[in-house]
Amino acid sequence: MPTYEYHCGGCHKTIEIFQPMTARPEKVCPECGSSDFKRIVSGGVGVIFHGSGFYCTDYKGKNASTPGSSASK
Ligand SMILES: [Zn+2]
Repeated sequence: MPTYEYHCGGCHKTIEIFQPMTARPEKVCPECGSSDFKRIVSGGVGVIFHGSGFYCTDYKGKNASTPGSSASK
């Protein structure tokens, strides 16, 4: 049984719903009840935003340069 991913335009959540192929697609978000609820067709494209992976680059070298502020014990 496949898992379908839905994206809600109301609460901006991506929700996975486990349902058979024969089932009708959900039309209303179970979280907030918004009707702006669409199924994401994921065919292995890999462009689904599952959170932010963009912050990793920002954390590099941050521990190297923190002079002053709270370094006295
Ligand atoms: Zn919602």
